[in-house]
Amino acid sequence: MPAAPPAAARAAWLRETLERASHEYYVLDRPSLSDAEYDRLYRELRALEEAHPALRTADSPTMRVGTDVGASHLAKYAHLVPMGSLNNAFSDEELEDWAASGREVAGADFDRSGFCCELKIDGAAISLTYRDGVLVTGATRGNGAVGEDVTANVRTIRDIPLRLTGTGWPALIELRGEVYMTFDGFEKMNAERVKAGEPVFANPRNSAAGALRQKDPTVTAKRPLRFFGYAFAVPGTTSLPFTTQWELLETLASWGIPVAPQRKRCATLADVHEWAHALETTHRAELAFAIDGGVVKVDALATQAELGSTAGGREPRWAIARKFAPDVAETRLLAIEIQVGRTGVLTPRAVLDPVEIGGTTVTYATLHNFDLIAEKDLRIGDFVQVKRAGEVIPQVLGPVPDKRDAANPPTPFAAPRTCPECGTAVVRLDGEVAVRCPNERCPARHLEELIHFTARGAMDIRGLSEQRVRQLLEAGLISDPATLYALTEDVLAPLPRLGAKSAQQLVTAIAASKAQPLSRLLFGLGIPDVGEETAKLLARRFGTVNALRDASTEEVEGIHGVGPSIAASVVRWFAAAENRALLKALAAHGVNTTEPLRAEAEGALLGKKIVITGTLPSLGRSEAKELVEGAGGKVTDSVSKNTDFVVVGADAGSKLDKAKALGVEVIDEAELLRRIGR
Ligand code: NAD
Repeated sequence: MPAAPPAAARAAWLRETLERASHEYYVLDRPSLSDAEYDRLYRELRALEEAHPALRTADSPTMRVGTDVGASHLAKYAHLVPMGSLNNAFSDEELEDWAASGREVAGADFDRSGFCCELKIDGAAISLTYRDGVLVTGATRGNGAVGEDVTANVRTIRDIPLRLTGTGWPALIELRGEVYMTFDGFEKMNAERVKAGEPVFANPRNSAAGALRQKDPTVTAKRPLRFFGYAFAVPGTTSLPFTTQWELLETLASWGIPVAPQRKRCATLADVHEWAHALETTHRAELAFAIDGGVVKVDALATQAELGSTAGGREPRWAIARKFAPDVAETRLLAIEIQVGRTGVLTPRAVLDPVEIGGTTVTYATLHNFDLIAEKDLRIGDFVQVKRAGEVIPQVLGPVPDKRDAANPPTPFAAPRTCPECGTAVVRLDGEVAVRCPNERCPARHLEELIHFTARGAMDIRGLSEQRVRQLLEAGLISDPATLYALTEDVLAPLPRLGAKSAQQLVTAIAASKAQPLSRLLFGLGIPDVGEETAKLLARRFGTVNALRDASTEEVEGIHGVGPSIAASVVRWFAAAENRALLKALAAHGVNTTEPLRAEAEGALLGKKIVITGTLPSLGRSEAKELVEGAGGKVTDSVSKNTDFVVVGADAGSKLDKAKALGVEVIDEAELLRRIGR
């Protein structure tokens, strides 16, 4: 199946975002995404590439390890044996999926081998080359093939032996492990930096990686770096005096290499699950250093060899990182801010004492609505638990009442009675949790309304950034969307940061937006409950804005996919005099208010059995289901040979594997939309 363009565009965006994140993470040691967020996007890209192999590029982050070191200030080092990465499992189920694919390659050997479970040290990967037992090179992983030569820095780390002890080491060996910092060492170092007036480091991982890559080894020597070894590679073939990963670790220890504690040999996968849960819930908190999960390795080296690596050699099939659920952190709630949205809804937002969660500093978190604040009894000054679970906006889980200080009690929060922007008394519609500012002329509403109107999925007016809209509003040049179309070059050009050229471009872009189809206009108008998909349904059913304006609730509700509450909301919006006036003004400026009528694609999926799995890029699960059903298809839960096709999103698990195994067609969201004519 040829890849549909939206999938290609999404894949390109994901590649670019992941590439930039990797540069920030590995080269600058200053990530702007959390690891959970990075992992989520990475999995989405992998799923897209699996669904459309044609989209896979040779330089995709899914095909490579780490990042290139071409621009590094350090000398390069070509690893004798390439360094890989690890695949991730975030749940028992995903670990089972990994085992299932392992069994496909190694059969019964997979389970017979048993498993060696280790800590996944959250540090920087390093390769140490020993020749005749003497340390000759230390190198970062880089892109897996070529890393940075950090030999002088590595020599300053006391945990790393300059000469191996014991016996039996191969003449040439590349020892693999992790350079890390203990929490204690990290905190002491940061305290000293504060005293010296230097900026503090974000977390132990990034500071360990940064310290390792210093130009001046005397700087590295002052940083509290530690080391654990967990593997080694030998160029060519060598017979080893042991046969399991477990023995390998013991052998490393006998050569004077520090090996991480808490490792366990497990006979079955059920034991592995138990170990992983105990690690996450109990042992993790007892450790003096950070881990970001466990690593599960097939114990028998012969079975490891049988399993080999994935195509491209990025990750071994015999090992997998068992990662932890996203992090929760505790911090102080400094204030509750109120934002007024384009529909006038007042939304509270938590202002936090900045806290580090999963590699990102969190300052704001969502509080959803005022009822929730009362229910949780959140008070300003409280210690609160904040969760950052991969999604963009962190959440406040609740207060930690035990930490309330009786001498300095937190202040209870009272929901506002008036709009913080315009002072109008707020209202609450029956049955709604949302509190609204009813003032149609509230300046905050206009700003949000205009930003929404000009945004990409709506009228898509290039060059009208949020700052520009704000500037035009403040200058009194615009108020509602229709006023945008009255702007001329003459009034725009004299404004600060504009000038003749930009003014001309802006006027052209605004004029071009007049031709957008009715569905985009409807979406852009911000009618409550009308998203992009509903706007399309409405436009294609009624064809003109006047026909929709004059439609009854029953007629609107008659569209498949539009429920009674959406229909009521649409009819209510069109009944309001100010909205009718706005539509008239838009039409007077020549804004298109039509779209070709289109019958509902009733028969497109008639009689088809469809499974939806994973997170789709734009449709929610129930939205996708409704669309399929609207087109005559049936959504079922499990994949069988009777399934016509499977729609796959990010993080798809065993259903995707099953579809592949049964040879059932796999498509993405874009292809689904194409098939039902959207
Ligand atoms: P990874 O960190 O998930 O796993 C591979 C690494 O684990 C190995 O290279 C090794 O250094 C380390 N490791 C620690 N203990 C180990 C043990 N006992 N056995 C074997 N290996 C062990 O994969 P990666 O390729 O190094 O990095 C990808 C990860 O890094 C992502 O999953 C993400 O969490 C993070 N990342 C984050 C960002 C961001 O912007 N936040 C950007 C890039 C990468």
